[in-house]
Formats: sequence, C-alpha cells, structure tokens
Amino acid sequence: MNKMDNESTRPRPVSNGMEKIVSLAKRRGFIYPGSEIYGGLSGFWDYGPLGIALKRNIENLWWRTFVEDRDDMYGVDAAIIMHREAWKASGHVGGFSDPMVECKKCKRRFRLPVASATQAGADQGGEKCPECGGSFGDVRQFNMMFKTHVGATEDESSVSYLRPETAGGIFVNFKNIVDSFHPKLPFGIAQIGKAFRNEIAPRDFVFRTREFGQMEIEYFVRPDEWERWFVTWREEVFMFFDSIGIARDSIHESEIGHGDRAHYSKRTIDFEFDFPFGRKELCGLAYRTDFDLRAHAKTSGVELSVVIDDATGEKIVPHVIEPSFGVDRAIFALLVSAYTEDELNGEVRTYLKFNPAVAPIKAAVFPLLKNKPELVAKAREIYTGLKKTVPQILWDDNGNIGKRYRRQDEIGTPVCITVDFQTLEDDTVTVRDRDTGKQERVQISGLERQIGVK
Ligand code: ATP
Repeated sequence: MNKMDNESTRPRPVSNGMEKIVSLAKRRGFIYPGSEIYGGLSGFWDYGPLGIALKRNIENLWWRTFVEDRDDMYGVDAAIIMHREAWKASGHVGGFSDPMVECKKCKRRFRLPVASATQAGADQGGEKCPECGGSFGDVRQFNMMFKTHVGATEDESSVSYLRPETAGGIFVNFKNIVDSFHPKLPFGIAQIGKAFRNEIAPRDFVFRTREFGQMEIEYFVRPDEWERWFVTWREEVFMFFDSIGIARDSIHESEIGHGDRAHYSKRTIDFEFDFPFGRKELCGLAYRTDFDLRAHAKTSGVELSVVIDDATGEKIVPHVIEPSFGVDRAIFALLVSAYTEDELNGEVRTYLKFNPAVAPIKAAVFPLLKNKPELVAKAREIYTGLKKTVPQILWDDNGNIGKRYRRQDEIGTPVCITVDFQTLEDDTVTVRDRDTGKQERVQISGLERQIGVK
C-alpha cells in the first residue's frame, strides 16, 4: 500500500445541483447544447464521448434485461417516419396536443399552466405574460408532432410525421412478428430509438427536449390478465432502475387520474424522480387496452390478432401493457443520483458515483511518472492488454497522480490503476477506489476481476 497517496473522505451536502450537473456534463464531454456555435437550438442536445458511452451502456443493459435475457420478447428497429395514416389511426394527428396560450403583445407562446412552463411565477388564471406583462389570447391546442413531406412534392398528400413515440413502430410490426415467430400470449415487442415532439416549452436540460430517446415495450396479454401483468411490470420498472443505480426510494409512483391520462390509456402510473427542479416523470407505465391494435386494424384493413387455441384456431385481439422509459431522463436522473461532493484530505472534491455497469470509463491506467520509459512501457502493456476485454478504459499520464485521480473521479471512473517501480519487481499495481480513496496492491493477473470483468 502506498501510504502517501491514501485519502480520507467526508461527505458534503450538494447545493445548486442543476447548475453543477449541467456544467460538469458540458465541461467533461457528456452533454453539449445542440448547435452551440450558432447560439444553440432550444430543445436539442448533443452527446459527447462520455455521454454516448453512458447512453449506450444504459440502452445495452435495458436491451439485455428486457430482450436478450427473456424468451417472450422480440426486438424491432422501425423507421422513424411512418405512413401518416398510422398516426391518424393512433389518434396522434387528432389528439396529440398540449394546451397553449400566446401573448398578444410579445407573441411568445406558453404551455399551460403558464406558472410551471416559465417558472416566472405568473399563474394561468392571472392572464398576464410572465415575460412582458401582456395579456393572453384564447387557449389553443398545439399538436406536438413534427411534420415533414416525403418525396419531392410538398402538398397535403406527401405529409408525414417524425414519430412522437417509438410505440407506433411496434404496433405496425405486430403482424410481422406474429407471422414470423408465432408467439403465444403473453409476449412483448421492444424498441429503442428516437422520438420527436415539438414541445412548446422545452426546458430543464435534457428533461424536456424536442428530440429524445425512448426504450419502449408493448407487452401483449389476454384481456382478463391485464391487471396481473400491470403489477409485474411495475416491479420490473423499479428493478431496472435499481440495476443502473437509480435507487428505488428515489422513485415515487403517481397514479394518473382519468382526465389526465393519454387518450389510449385506461390506467397509467408515472414513476417520478426528484430532479433538481422538482419531482417529475421519469418513466411511465400504461394499460393501453386493445386501442392501438383495433385502431390500426380498422384503418389499414389488416387483421391484427393472435391465435389463442391451436386446436380451434380461436383468435383474439390482445390487450397491451406499456412500460415506456425515456433514455435522456434516465441519464439525467442517473447524473443526479451519482453526483456527489465530499471532502478528501480536507479538499472539496466532486465525483460521479456511477454503478460500474453504466460508468462510461471502467478504469484508468497511469504510469506513476511520465518521464520513466520503463514505467510507461509497463503501463502501456497493461493498458493494451486490458483494453482487449474492457474497451471502456482510459490512459492518463498528465500531471501528478492526485490531479489524475480528481479527473477520473469527476467522470465517475470506478478504479484507477497506477504502475510504479514496485510493479517492475513483482507484477503488482496500485488499484485506487473512487468512492473511498483507498488503495490496494493487486496482481496484474487479477485486474480484470478487480474491475468487474471476467
Ligand atoms: P410529460 O408529461 O413530462 O410531457 P409524457 O407523459 O408526455 O411526459 P410519455 O408520452 O409517457 O411522456 O413518454 C414516455 C417517456 O418518454 C416519458 O416518461 C419520458 O421519460 C420520455 N419523454 C417524453 N417526452 C419527453 C421530452 N419532451 N423530452 C425528454 N423525454 C421525454
């Protein structure tokens, strides 16, 4: 053990979490404002090298948990632009809208209620614009789908939409999956992909954006069994968040009342998380009945059903339970959960306490001194060897060891591996733990196990 480098930690409460997280995310290459050099584009964010690694880790874990590790799940990757009739059938063309008011003076538009849309404290009944004090026109419904034209002709016949939810691509492939795989109920179809909503008031970092990722499952069940499956999926939601490092006790269920549910839902639970700006929806679980399959069958003229009795050939239109996870809100909640400040050797330090399964970098390798070729060569050899089985590994030989530790702490790297003069003698290295600052000497041959990879 290298006594000189051992560190002692003391936790500290975090204040101004939102500002600190947004700033760390940009500074360290997780998430950047979209089109930043042009002044940004409201509601769009870009993921940098560490952000995309974090995102892929979450998506891969989700896919493994809900698709690869199960026998009753089928994955799809449907096109983002679909036939416009599909969005008419699903009710999105007619009803996927938010209430909006426009200020008569400055022409700014607000999503209702105005108070929560602007944080300026004006209330909806007060009828005053929080930006300029002007009065509002009538409440209008604003359809949030992004419209586009398919092909060279820009008229009504070529209109289509960027999907506002990935679920649409699942329902239109229901028949394909049934025909190719002949699944028995219950079974699910899963998809990870982008969704687009022209939000009236995008805000709060990646919480409410106009382009975002979704991870959705449509789980098809017998109509009389929906309650049982709803309860099962409720538990699965908690287990997944727990597995990526969002603790069960930081998620709060909210039963959505009849008037507030989406047009297709007979029961919805929102899973809310304590974001720095308040308790808000992280993910949803909805009982969509047979609304979508029946609507698509009616509009397309194609039967969408499944055989439930091979002997008689009896068919039914199954009902659907839908767990719907937002990728970006999961990332945001993970950053909030992981963001930690403590005192290390009397100095304030910031670190991301990521679960190693999602950490964008699993381990960093350092030569103790950069100007000692024998140390650098040995460290390179270890780094190159590990990288074959642990691609998310990083090399750093810049600055003193303390600074290198801080840099890795800030991006949530669980362990740092230092190659020193003793390594040259006995093939051991120093492995330093991010959370405790404690170090131990480990055989090079035991490193893969140490960083959690067999
Ligand atoms: P909200 O009420 O916050 O607008 P919603 O109820 O419309 O959300 P759903 O239609 O249930 O959201 O979408 C499923 C999931 O997709 C949400 O739980 C969330 O994680 C994510 N999501 C929805 N809209 C956005 C958005 N504008 N930006 C980022 N993620 C979103």
